[in-house]
Amino acid sequence: MANPEMLKKIIAHAKEYGFIFQSSEIYDGLSAVYDYGQNGVELKNNIKKYWWDSMVKLNENIVGIDTAIFMHPKIWTASGHVGAFSDPLIDNKDSKKRYRADVLIEDHREKIQLKINKDVDKAQKRFGDEFDKEEFLKTNKRVLDRQAKIDSITERFQNALNNDDLDDLKQLIVDEGIICPVSGSKNWTDVRQFNLMFDTKLGSVSEDADKIYLRPETAQGIFVNYLNVQKTGRMKLPFGIAQIGKAFRNEIVARQFIFRMREFEQMEMQFFIRPGEQEKWFEHWKNLRISWHKALNLGSEGYRFHDHDKLAHYATAATDIEFDFPMGFKELEGIHSRGDFDLSQHQEFSGKKLQYFDPELNKSYVPFVIETSIGLDRMFLAILSSSFKDEKIEKADGKTESRIVLKIHPALAPVKAAVLPLVKKDGLPEKAREILKELQYEFNCQYEEKDSIGKRYRRHDAIGTPFCITVDHQSLEDNTVTIRDRDTMQQERININEVKNIISEKTNMKNLFEKIENR
Ligand code: ATP
Repeated sequence: MANPEMLKKIIAHAKEYGFIFQSSEIYDGLSAVYDYGQNGVELKNNIKKYWWDSMVKLNENIVGIDTAIFMHPKIWTASGHVGAFSDPLIDNKDSKKRYRADVLIEDHREKIQLKINKDVDKAQKRFGDEFDKEEFLKTNKRVLDRQAKIDSITERFQNALNNDDLDDLKQLIVDEGIICPVSGSKNWTDVRQFNLMFDTKLGSVSEDADKIYLRPETAQGIFVNYLNVQKTGRMKLPFGIAQIGKAFRNEIVARQFIFRMREFEQMEMQFFIRPGEQEKWFEHWKNLRISWHKALNLGSEGYRFHDHDKLAHYATAATDIEFDFPMGFKELEGIHSRGDFDLSQHQEFSGKKLQYFDPELNKSYVPFVIETSIGLDRMFLAILSSSFKDEKIEKADGKTESRIVLKIHPALAPVKAAVLPLVKKDGLPEKAREILKELQYEFNCQYEEKDSIGKRYRRHDAIGTPFCITVDHQSLEDNTVTIRDRDTMQQERININEVKNIISEKTNMKNLFEKIENR
């Protein structure tokens, strides 16, 4: 559920502990652009690895590539981005703030849905065990009225989007009495389309320079290399090509931290299939992707599928996996059935055949495509926000204190173990560094000797380090250390030889991969 206070806490925490900084901060920042700090980059790399390996390493028919950000400008005409990669924008004349008209309407609809949820909660409390949610939703007058409102907004909204009827989009905002959250007024401009692509010039002599675009998605790099990969990899249908890389969009409204950035990273996979098999493969990838998410244990209540209000004209099906971010349920990943649109367009615009010879059918055709597309930064935010816990803990003397802990899955945690000498003398730092050296071959570890051991534990809780290894005087005598578990805070004395195995067992990504169902 939307929780703006939580978002503020997470932004502050992300900065304080070296996860995310505003870009160009000492120059007062650059809007909707962010830098990843020393812990952020580790978490980001681990998320990439979880995605990449689950696609490329665990599927014998998926390979990865890494294509350039700059591409031939014709590509963006062929793909439809020059003509239609735009969002409907609207300005409030009083606050001078700019909004996406579709997002204003979606948020308004979501507010009505939240009222229904509240009605359900209240009734549940009143009736207790007797409560029948299904029956309540079907019969309660107030709920039915609210649902009817949602349905009528959805119908009109979809019609306006599908017919590119910008006037009616505005009228819907007016008729629903949607106000600007800043000025509180309903004084709106007309709705206009705004193209989201950044452009620049290629070439040193400005008169001859060609206008080129910063790619707004990584997918086109995959499509234009379809034949290269298919031929050189001797790939047989069905097969997939995966890519992780930067994308750029001049977003109209870029708020909400790393949820909506102007420079961001995508992890996309295009799965090439035989025409006619799209329904089967769409279902397959829907199931596989939600299972990939759920393996992380971010809370199974936190996901829902949302089918698109407007299908791209070539698409036969499209759904979003939405996640319950601190701003409410929002798109985290898209799964799209794209038909043969992309390859056919590139075939036409480039004049090169982009087909597949199917030996079983003994004919050539342009393959169909199922796409899975997830924002790396949004995934980062999903993990950060759901693993952030403000816990009250009871101390031995009966008093309580609080601790902030990031309960990130150990396989994704930026630092796997901290090695801490109890004191800065008596040979303990030397012993601790010896252990560190051995662990560094396999894990990202940190050595820390400053501050009390309690403070050091708290610092590592705050960045999600699963293990703290403490070296004390006894370690010098019997080769043992204490190992502290981040989640239970239990400490156990173990032989130094066991440390590596314990860390390895808990932080191994295999633990995640094994939980992905229907692989
Ligand atoms: P939205 O409706 O939120 O603008 P979209 O439908 O335009 O997103 P896609 O074009 O399907 O998004 O892009 C695929 C994925 O890329 C999205 O699911 C999202 O995770 C990510 N993404 C898109 N735009 C941004 C952005 N501006 N900042 C961060 N991630 C983004």
